[in-house]
Amino acid sequence: MIKITFPDGSAKEYKNGITSLEIAEQISPGLAAEVYSATVSGEIWDLTRPISSDATLKLHKWEDEQAKHAFWHSSAHLMAGALESLYPGIKFGIGPAIEMGFYYDVDPGDGKIITDSDLKAIEDKMKEMASENLVFTRREVTKKEALDLFKSKGDEYKTELISELEDGTISLYTHGNFTDLCRGPHLPSTEPVKAIKLTSVAGAYWRGDEKRRMLTRIYGITFPKQKMLDEYLVFVEEAKRRDHRRIGREQELFAFSPKVGMGLPLWLPRGSDIRQNLIDFLTTVLRKRGYRIVTTPHIGNVELYKTSGHFEKYRTSSFQPISTPQEGEQFMLKPMNCPHHCEIYNATQHSYKELPFRMAEFGTVYRYEQSGELHGLTRVRSFTQDDAHHFCRPDQLREEFKRIIDLVLYIFKVLNFNDFTAQISLRDPDDKEKYIGSDENWEKAEQDIIAAASEKKLQTTVVKGEAAFYGPKLDFMVKDAIGRNWQLGTIQVDYNLPERFDLTYIGSDNQKHRPVMIHRAIFGSLERFVAVLIENNAGKFPLWLAPEKAVILPISEKYNEYAVNVLEILNNSDICTLIDDRSEKIGKKIRDNELKRIPYLLIIGEKEVLNGTVSVRKQGEGDQGSMKVDEFVNLIHSEINKEIS
Ligand SMILES: [Zn+2]
Ligand SMILES: [Zn+2]
Repeated sequence: MIKITFPDGSAKEYKNGITSLEIAEQISPGLAAEVYSATVSGEIWDLTRPISSDATLKLHKWEDEQAKHAFWHSSAHLMAGALESLYPGIKFGIGPAIEMGFYYDVDPGDGKIITDSDLKAIEDKMKEMASENLVFTRREVTKKEALDLFKSKGDEYKTELISELEDGTISLYTHGNFTDLCRGPHLPSTEPVKAIKLTSVAGAYWRGDEKRRMLTRIYGITFPKQKMLDEYLVFVEEAKRRDHRRIGREQELFAFSPKVGMGLPLWLPRGSDIRQNLIDFLTTVLRKRGYRIVTTPHIGNVELYKTSGHFEKYRTSSFQPISTPQEGEQFMLKPMNCPHHCEIYNATQHSYKELPFRMAEFGTVYRYEQSGELHGLTRVRSFTQDDAHHFCRPDQLREEFKRIIDLVLYIFKVLNFNDFTAQISLRDPDDKEKYIGSDENWEKAEQDIIAAASEKKLQTTVVKGEAAFYGPKLDFMVKDAIGRNWQLGTIQVDYNLPERFDLTYIGSDNQKHRPVMIHRAIFGSLERFVAVLIENNAGKFPLWLAPEKAVILPISEKYNEYAVNVLEILNNSDICTLIDDRSEKIGKKIRDNELKRIPYLLIIGEKEVLNGTVSVRKQGEGDQGSMKVDEFVNLIHSEINKEIS
């Protein structure tokens, strides 16, 4: 008999050699139909692999990444099997599961190509094979056996992969007539794959090396139910509609210029307004919460980054240092603001009474990203962080954490991010050498984070082993309007930089002590955050964030002078407004400006001039009647106050 321990801590004895699937069936047949893979003593396994010693067991349902991974990875095999039967002699590179779906890199052979128009036939073959309920069987083989098999098939790609593997670790999986080199895990059979969609074909160099052969990469996705695939396809369309790159172009928010350089965003006036509104809003909030705003240069001496340790990290993988012509000094484009902030801390003396010192900066940093990785505003080479550092005494850590949690929750509320999760990352208790800082400090910091989160009634998951080497952290994940997760908000304890920069404060005992540093960002970067806002709101911004709050539409040229008067009043009242004085029909002006998603349209004709009023139309809600200009000013101010209070 062997003992199986479940995630809730309960344990049960089973006969030696039982499989996860059999255990699931014994619990309930319903459960067995819903699980796709299992984690056995920390390793992800096939459900049908026999367990032959005491083990911990977690069964994975669809919601778990591990289930989707096994499902999509098995689907990649299914596709490969279909390809082999449709394209005899085809050779295979790698076929992993990805975040959404899977792909396989294939070489159809000389003179043969696979294009989008072939996908339907491959899909149909996959469906036919899936319905045959082909069982995935695992076989462990020697390196020689594996090499012989793939050499006999003439598959130089698999042969190359196998030649790099260690003997004794090689497994093959077979379903139907198709055998693949693979670590697993897979589904028990092809039967659960009920809905299949091959989405695209692309070129991909073998092993990402542009000197080697270009293979054909076929992407696809599968689900256990047709309804799930239908929903996914609707989601994909919706995501396209919300794509911030398209909306950014249409609404003239930002642009990229090859002359300026790849991945370097140019904020156009309207996008810049949104960005500035975020900065103004957060600055006001931060000042109220005891932060001091600081400003630092965009470059720093390499010595600074040698002290911080960032030189090691970014030296080869990021922008290369620049030198001064005469002194030969070397500078790096700033990859992080933290080292500069440590030196701001060091610029003055600190006593225990004046801590914590909360320092904030909208600091622009520069990091190299491969050109292929760049994506709109979400992956760029220059971005501005809403960065802040708290320098505090160890006994203040919990209180500071609570303050930051409060701040994050407040910002989420203002921005209507109501669906979020929080994760506390602790160190791996079995591998303490990986981390710097004393045991005592770590234990205290971890307890402080857990206590702060619970005092703030934050629902958290706690994950061991995910902390940075320099301290534990708390991260927030926000779900957007179409269910995608974005990491926003991170709070991180740091024992490393205070040590490296020899930060001190004078304690009540008149001795020097080491402060603790907390890094925190809420938006992360303004670039990425604006992208998230655009996609979350489908390009429609709340009033306080909108670039222009109103546009004035005179019915004819006769009223242009009054329109200019109104414009001045509104702009002087901090309400960014435009005039549309084109000699177009009023109906066309209304339509054009509604398309631009300007929140308020103010129509001006004879009656409005006589009464000193404007006729108000609200985006999406139509006519609001006419009101005095100062009434409109009050309306806007109170609406904005409501949004950001
Ligand atoms: Zn596989
Ligand atoms: Zn930092």
